[in-house]
Amino acid sequence: MSRLCLSLESLKGAGRKLESAAADLAEVRVDLLSCEERQAISPESLKSADGKAIPTILAIRRTEDGGHWGTDGETETERVELFQSLLASGHWGWVDMEYHRRPQRVIEAAAKADTKVILSINDSSGASLNQPVRELAALMQSIHAEGAIPKLALRCESSRQLLTLARLALALEDMPEKLLIGLGEYGTASVILAEKFGSLWIYTALNGKLNPQKLNELYRFQEISQSTPIYALTGNPITHSRSPGLHNGWLRTAGLPGCYIPIQSDDVGALLETCDILGITGLSVTVPHKEAALRHCDTAEPLARRIGAVNTLIRGEEGWRAHNTDARGFMEALLEALEVNRADYLNGKKVLIIGAGGAAKAAVYSLAKTGCRLVILNRTLEKAEAMAKVVGGVYGTLSPESEPLCRDTEIAVQTTSVGMAPNSGSDPLPWWNPVGCRLVFDIIYNPAETVLMRRSSAARVKTVNGYTMLVKQAALQFKMFTKGSRRL
Ligand code: NAP
Repeated sequence: MSRLCLSLESLKGAGRKLESAAADLAEVRVDLLSCEERQAISPESLKSADGKAIPTILAIRRTEDGGHWGTDGETETERVELFQSLLASGHWGWVDMEYHRRPQRVIEAAAKADTKVILSINDSSGASLNQPVRELAALMQSIHAEGAIPKLALRCESSRQLLTLARLALALEDMPEKLLIGLGEYGTASVILAEKFGSLWIYTALNGKLNPQKLNELYRFQEISQSTPIYALTGNPITHSRSPGLHNGWLRTAGLPGCYIPIQSDDVGALLETCDILGITGLSVTVPHKEAALRHCDTAEPLARRIGAVNTLIRGEEGWRAHNTDARGFMEALLEALEVNRADYLNGKKVLIIGAGGAAKAAVYSLAKTGCRLVILNRTLEKAEAMAKVVGGVYGTLSPESEPLCRDTEIAVQTTSVGMAPNSGSDPLPWWNPVGCRLVFDIIYNPAETVLMRRSSAARVKTVNGYTMLVKQAALQFKMFTKGSRRL
């Protein structure tokens, strides 16, 4: 299984840090240590708090390679000498050098000290991922042929680049010792799923976005094996999504194997190919890919086709199948907010829908069946018109001219992204007065109270945000993802 390596920028309290991170190994970046610390490196400083020696990587990275060696005038000769003297102490598991700058004297010192050599290609621009996979594979193989562990650490800036990394992992499946690491939001999958990428370990820092606590507690990183079922959320952006917390929490509570990870994406086709390589079998889809995801699927449930937008993809024998759990999640949350059990309560009621995107379509399709009177307002009039033509109802734009259409609204459903963080100061319908409305349901859940909800509450109108809908649609997904799954 892939291991967790804690990068140390200081040796102060190293034992405690290693223990709290539950790290399997450590990397000492000597270039980041103070002068005093550089003098005082000893085997004792690299033991966990309970006295166990931790396997450690020695690295001294130059400024040209993204490190700090040279910022205080340190020379290459001094770096080589420091490598040699530290290696002579004999307590390093590995020494890490740039592939393009690997001094022979350090390689010889490592051999003498029985220390393995890692030869790294660090690329913070990600340009290397635009090369053909076979060239990258040949490079990794030539490093391996030198008897070293090849390490590729590069910034991933698109779904295509993550796909290249996944294809490379597949091409190098038989290479037992390697490190393939994608940095940045698009590379997250290569870190959490290091085991599936065939990487010996991943690097983490206590103050990093993917810190040891998150990796161990949220993603159960150290339990991921080749056979662990993997599910994912895709969209752009997804950094603040609550879905990984919900799904991983449910997996843990149900005692089921599996891990649910975020994969930022800008290309659904490339993303699905990556999922196939990694064996991902269930996918939650969010903004802006709900319509594109339907186009890329092999089959779709009839409701998803009618809505024209999907939020759930399941990988079966015959490819990817699209579903929409937003529609049911929305209706369940709406009835709960209205404190009624049956959807026919809505028969004849006037319902204002703000927005005509994917989420609005899911809401409108489940509302249309209830016999309610729909008013659909959207920034782009044509989309409101198209929707109203399919489900019935009147339509207009978000401008004050639509005010007469909104009179006597009994239930308002806000489905645009206006008012969502970070632009939480905006209101999609500032001219509308909600007085007399029974419920304003804003499907945004971040922030917990939007401007529209705040002014509706001030007008004594009941309000509800989108959190319950999120949980309900996710619970339906969870059932589909884990169908047939066996408890641990
Ligand atoms: P979408 O398909 O991209 O649709 C976006 C909608 O917002 C469209 O109606 C769009 O109008 C409108 N819009 C965007 N920017 C606007 C602006 N500046 N001014 C006026 N209107 C604007 O996205 P979606 O999937 O429907 O999601 C929309 C929102 O619902 C997001 O905030 C999402 O997080 C939330 N959501 C919540 C849940 C939940 O479970 N609670 C589920 C799904 C979605 P145009 O047609 O004119 O572009």
